[in-house]
Amino acid sequence: MDTMRYKVYTQTNFRKMPQMAMLTEEQKFDIEVVASVLPFKSNNYVTDNLIDWGNVPDDPMFRLTFPQREMLKEEHYNEIADALRSGKNKMEIKEIANRIRMSLNPHPAGQKCNIPELDGEDLKGIQHKYRETALFFPSNGQTCHAYCTFCFRWPQFVGVNEWKFAMKETDLLLEYLRNNPQITDVLFTGGDPMIMKASALEVYINGLLEANLPNLKTIRIGSKALGFWPYKFLTDKDADETLRLFEKVVKSGVNLSFMAHFSHPVELSTPAVQEAIVKIRNTGAQIRTQSPLLRHINDDDDTWAEMWRAQVDNNCIPYYMFVERDTGAQEYFSVPLVDAWKIFQKAYQQVSGICRTVRGPSMSSTPGKVHILGVQDIPLNGKSEKVFVLQFIQGRNPDWVCKPFFAKYDENATWLSDLKPALGQKEFFYERELSEILDEEPELVRAE
Ligand SMILES: *Cc1c(COP(=O)(O)O)cnc(C)c1O
Repeated sequence: MDTMRYKVYTQTNFRKMPQMAMLTEEQKFDIEVVASVLPFKSNNYVTDNLIDWGNVPDDPMFRLTFPQREMLKEEHYNEIADALRSGKNKMEIKEIANRIRMSLNPHPAGQKCNIPELDGEDLKGIQHKYRETALFFPSNGQTCHAYCTFCFRWPQFVGVNEWKFAMKETDLLLEYLRNNPQITDVLFTGGDPMIMKASALEVYINGLLEANLPNLKTIRIGSKALGFWPYKFLTDKDADETLRLFEKVVKSGVNLSFMAHFSHPVELSTPAVQEAIVKIRNTGAQIRTQSPLLRHINDDDDTWAEMWRAQVDNNCIPYYMFVERDTGAQEYFSVPLVDAWKIFQKAYQQVSGICRTVRGPSMSSTPGKVHILGVQDIPLNGKSEKVFVLQFIQGRNPDWVCKPFFAKYDENATWLSDLKPALGQKEFFYERELSEILDEEPELVRAE
């Protein structure tokens, strides 16, 4: 495998990319406008190997990584475009951009309610929503190799400090894990933890292993690196050190699950990614895969079936299909829940049981991960009512999990907040308890 030199493209230098000769001035200006609000970053592996420039702007990987005009509301687009055209300075544009960002629901699904306390202090680098799993945001892993335009972590990348959930000290994490023996999984997330040098990741991992916590069963690493920069495991200077670190986790008896984000089958198609997967699997780590269902990118069943098959062919385990979250450019990407279910069903029907480890479509919402099981007509008083059948895969209260519940059918609904209880019920079964957990008025709870 040839060494690949890493070239980053952002809002400030993207016009220098050789492929930009294929775009019109207007398309380039649109990128600049939208990138002033939503973060934009790509690299030469993505632009040279994953994007079919002959198919731009429709190419799914182009739409996934390059800002698109329709991602901003018309009025927001015009405001930034006018500011750029009239030569406003960086500070002025930033101020406008921050105001627009605040209107884009930067912290969906009550993320701010997931921040735990230790001795009365907020632990800003940890989120603990589900009993068994704590999310850890290592402070030097809060960026990515390339930004997906849909990413709900976008506030982490726009340089507004109070919005970053980051923490330097592993000590606090360890103390939290000791105090909470119900936690079996620590999920390193970000950003992307694989952006860290192996030496930095090692500090955290060593801390966890040396603490010898009896409750720690699994370390998960949520990462887009296989899709966007597989050389991290092949020819980067710290590639071997990274793989040896993975081996060390596995040898210590802790399960290492690499949670790989793949949004399109093309991300699994290069020799580099396939070789990187082999290297990771050879350390004894498992690779599980997840992605949201995104309009313009992967909103058809054949794409998903092909992707799950390619994952299994490469020894990865399909894990989640998510519904696009209610944040950022949600309107651009969202697919009605009923269509999401139909795409899932048709894709699932095409593949064998080995690929059917995947669950979805699932909404990571305030009460938990809500799984859309399907649409059904329920007989009621001699008539029938069309409903969504739902259940929790994960819940803020573990007792909610695996109990089917019903919402009125709504062909336009794209998120849990659009759904109303069905079959004469006034509220969803979990809502009263959720409002107690969150210490909020019951009317507010359904808002997310
Ligand atoms: C999805 C998720 C997890 C992990 O849930 P699993 O079902 O165990 O994969 C943990 N915390 C949060 C906040 C999540 O959204």
